Amino acid sequence: MEVTFFYTECLFERVKEKIMAEIKLKELKINPAWCKGCGICVAFCPKSALELVNGKVQLKIDNHCILCGNCELRCPDYAIYIEEKEGETGQWVK
Ligand code: SF4
Ligand code: SF4
Repeated sequence: MEVTFFYTECLFERVKEKIMAEIKLKELKINPAWCKGCGICVAFCPKSALELVNGKVQLKIDNHCILCGNCELRCPDYAIYIEEKEGETGQWVK
């Protein structure tokens, strides 16, 4: 009984390690100094998570960003990007 429990626990740990290696904690970052307010990222966001405010892009307050990276790919000025994070903020995504 104890051996079975130990085996199950080891298996669980190995599965957990594998999953954690495949997913990363990420966060969307905006550099307002480089944003020229062209709106390309806003147009291509599949979740309508972005908006232009005073000529600069920003995440809507109740956004549903899924960190797909579309905005980063489309921005001609590298002003919006996804950063991998250490620590406890951000979202876990593949
Ligand atoms: S695509 Fe880039 S420059 Fe254009 S609004 Fe978005 S972040 Fe700003
Ligand atoms: S990462 Fe994807 S969902 Fe999030 S703001 Fe950019 S385009 Fe929209």
